[in-house]
Amino acid sequence: MADAAAGLLGAPGFVGARSLYIHVPFCFHKCHYCDFYSLVDTRDRQDAFVDRLLLELNAMAPLARGEPLETIFVGGGTPTLLRVDLWERVLGALAGLFDLTAIRAGAGEFTVECNPETASAELFGVLRAGGVGRLSMGAQSFEARHLKTLERWHDPASVGRAVDLARGAGIGRLSVDLIFAIPGQTLAEWERDLATAIGLGVTHLSCYALTYESNTAMTARLKRGEFEACDEDLEADMYELTVERCRAAGLGRYEVSNFAAVGQECAHNLAYWRQRSWMAAGPSASGHLVSPGSGSWRWKNSPRLDDYLRGSDRGFAPAVDVEGPDARRLVAESIMTGLRLREGVEVGRLVGGLGDGALAGRAAEIVREQAARGLAAEHAGRVTLTDKGFLFADGVAREFLAMLRP
Ligand code: SF4
Repeated sequence: MADAAAGLLGAPGFVGARSLYIHVPFCFHKCHYCDFYSLVDTRDRQDAFVDRLLLELNAMAPLARGEPLETIFVGGGTPTLLRVDLWERVLGALAGLFDLTAIRAGAGEFTVECNPETASAELFGVLRAGGVGRLSMGAQSFEARHLKTLERWHDPASVGRAVDLARGAGIGRLSVDLIFAIPGQTLAEWERDLATAIGLGVTHLSCYALTYESNTAMTARLKRGEFEACDEDLEADMYELTVERCRAAGLGRYEVSNFAAVGQECAHNLAYWRQRSWMAAGPSASGHLVSPGSGSWRWKNSPRLDDYLRGSDRGFAPAVDVEGPDARRLVAESIMTGLRLREGVEVGRLVGGLGDGALAGRAAEIVREQAARGLAAEHAGRVTLTDKGFLFADGVAREFLAMLRP
């Protein structure tokens, strides 16, 4: 289906989007655990991609309803693989199409994902001049052996160099991504990775347990018996150590896998987790527009660069998935993502809004059951997970999702 977002421009009652996600689909090489849409960059399609991206942004801009953008996040792929002159074109277009006053004043947030090997003073200077104030660096591990297991191509020392270059360019909000539960990784090695990342003085860490997504090379290797997955108890120990070390370093857990100094939380991801409206551009990018009272529209651009480059008549990207307003789905998604947050979620208010007394009663019962098991607590209408509950966040969410399934 093409032109999904074009149809949304005329949809009744949706709220203007204050967030924008852009997906850049190029990488050096495909990491074995990765199921994001990305292609090995042969440098010959970057210009065509940016040409099409600018058309898409131009078509999409009215979805912001002229409101200042609060967050922009450029992810991928490896956005910092784009040539500097192409970055200048993208940043110039964003400044011309959207109101970036909040971002430029520091009240908003503009993040770019960065592979440390691509860091340069020139690129970071251009990003900073274009309003970028936050970089999310993919480190994953500081042990060359584990990077090899993940088939991740960068020198561990490049992370520190990239952090210095970012600071030199005046980009002060820095986040580092780490992966734990890598096959063969010990608790002591994970402790060293955490200490190294914290020692860089960054204000945000994302720490994800390695997951085996279908259709990844890592999963195929696991099935072939090339290695054993990390033991579940060790993985739980690694997670508990993460929480403890981050807390001691002043990085509080504000989402299951995300830790930040006060005020340094990723506002863009919080917009996702709080089920706000956001625009999305680039192949495989997914957008979300909330229409109060009736639910939300969702769409996903085609995850194929060839389709994307062909585009559609009015400049929008071809969409492969479009879901119309559905109040129950929005409640289910709000509970699922909200429970993963330290702030929790107003389960009673959300389910109550559906106007179904039996459902509201069942939701209250589930909250009581989870509290009795020591996994959740309720204060002032908000359900939050306990420390123990964070270990089983997906299981707790499933209880509510089962209830909301049509
Ligand atoms: S750099 Fe990131 S997006 Fe690219 S293949 Fe590796 S994990 Fe995937």
